[in-house]
Amino acid sequence: MQIESINPANLERNGAVETHDEEEVIECFVKARKAQQEWKRIQVLERASIIARVNESLVDQIDELSLLVCREVGKPPLEAFISEIYGAIDSTFHYYNSVSEVLGEEREIPLGFYSSLDKRSFVYRKPAGVVAVIGPFNFPFVIPFQQIVQSLIAGNGVVFKPSSEAVLVGEAIYNILHTIEELPEDLMQVVFGSGSKLGRVMVDEANRVIFTGSTNTGKAIMRRAANTLTPVALELGGKSAMVVLPDANMDRAVRAAAWGCFINSGQVCASVKRLFLHESIKDDFTSRLVEFTNKLVQGYPEEPGTDIGAMVNQEQMQLVLDAIERAREQGAKVLSGGRRNPDLEGYFIEPTLLGECTNSMDCVQQEIFGPVLVILSFSSEAEAIKMVNDNPYGLTSSIWTENIDRGKQFAREIDTGTMMVNECVYSFALAMTPWGGPKASGIGRTHGEYGFLEVTEPFHLNVDRYKEMDPWWMPYDKDFREIMDNFKHIAKSLVVKQ
Ligand code: NAD
Repeated sequence: MQIESINPANLERNGAVETHDEEEVIECFVKARKAQQEWKRIQVLERASIIARVNESLVDQIDELSLLVCREVGKPPLEAFISEIYGAIDSTFHYYNSVSEVLGEEREIPLGFYSSLDKRSFVYRKPAGVVAVIGPFNFPFVIPFQQIVQSLIAGNGVVFKPSSEAVLVGEAIYNILHTIEELPEDLMQVVFGSGSKLGRVMVDEANRVIFTGSTNTGKAIMRRAANTLTPVALELGGKSAMVVLPDANMDRAVRAAAWGCFINSGQVCASVKRLFLHESIKDDFTSRLVEFTNKLVQGYPEEPGTDIGAMVNQEQMQLVLDAIERAREQGAKVLSGGRRNPDLEGYFIEPTLLGECTNSMDCVQQEIFGPVLVILSFSSEAEAIKMVNDNPYGLTSSIWTENIDRGKQFAREIDTGTMMVNECVYSFALAMTPWGGPKASGIGRTHGEYGFLEVTEPFHLNVDRYKEMDPWWMPYDKDFREIMDNFKHIAKSLVVKQ
């Protein structure tokens, strides 16, 4: 069977790949596991320099890869470049440079009293084994690429399943990594097929699962992983808020709100999806945002000058149109867009601004994975904090003010993995910082130090040079009882003096 790749902007066929069945996926894990046995013995810095060679090929293929991403998921090629291909190159460079700090050295742990018995402990990180990387459609290149690179540098094998909406991009990731001559042939595998068919076996066979996608799928993966107690990192949905205080730089904030919501047609986990405006600036800010939004160019992504491309497929488009309709029924007012673009053939939804929203509406509470921004107002910071936190998701959010101390104070009150002061969305590009968030946005973190920790196991090595018998060993005779009396004295010395 094949999965066809269709360009969502003009509905032309890009190509196709053969799907795998469950047996073939198991075979991929077996091969990757075998290759990993050798790979894990290579020094971490050498592994990192082997993997970092991929940047030469990436730089050579920037334009081809950007166009492939554009044709498969509908975003403009330059947006694909800066948000995906550049991100892959930048993060690989960073992981190469930082890995020795995180995984390089074994660390001795001071043992207190036990060291007087000639005992010493060392801790270092071992690779998990074979990591299942399951990717989403919206950033089909950069998200799995970074996770694969970190997993490989850390000494793991990888079996990667791209989204069925982005199989050619998945194949390109496999091919580009295999331009590295020193990469063992079987260490990194790619498999194609729907999550409902291959998801179970991907989880069952893996030593770690790094999943990026919707909250419902994340829950299904976690339930499955409970059978084998396989650790999972789940990067799930979001409903990021942007809170604008009266003293914010308005020009910058208006542009940020538009870019933050409409980049990639709003199909971004971290995109600005809720706009909270202080009541004193609400009308002015909203009219400037409507004016700016109406000037944005929606069109075929390959045409120069296009700001907003297509949604990935008809199903995603319909979900968003249904959500807009429900918002209208619940009292939201469409200030801009709100419909399928009638002038374009593919799956385009006009950039949409919804006013007169209240915090309990579905359009404010639920993730709408499309170019839809809901606008609310607040009268005090305490009210804004309450409304922002009263939401199932917790990935990112932002606060906009010229008073940085006030912004930082506000930020600390928000239940998200990342808070930005006067910025939005872009923090995903900071490969050195932790990525992920609590509540329905997932568990675990990818990127940076945390990403390396996610695909490795702490390993404790204890070494003993003591020549005598340990004092707590049998027999529990008279001598033993005396020794225990000594330990009772030692215990008293361990009471922390306040
Ligand atoms: P999705 O959950 O539909 O699919 C993601 C991947 O999971 C695909 O490869 C799919 O084939 C696979 N899958 C589906 N069912 C599965 C199962 N039962 N077991 C194992 N794998 C299965 O998500 P999507 O539509 O591709 O992506 C959009 C969602 O991803 C949005 O909710 C978005 O917020 C989220 N997302 C989150 C992040 C993040 O970093 N937090 C990044 C990008 C996207």
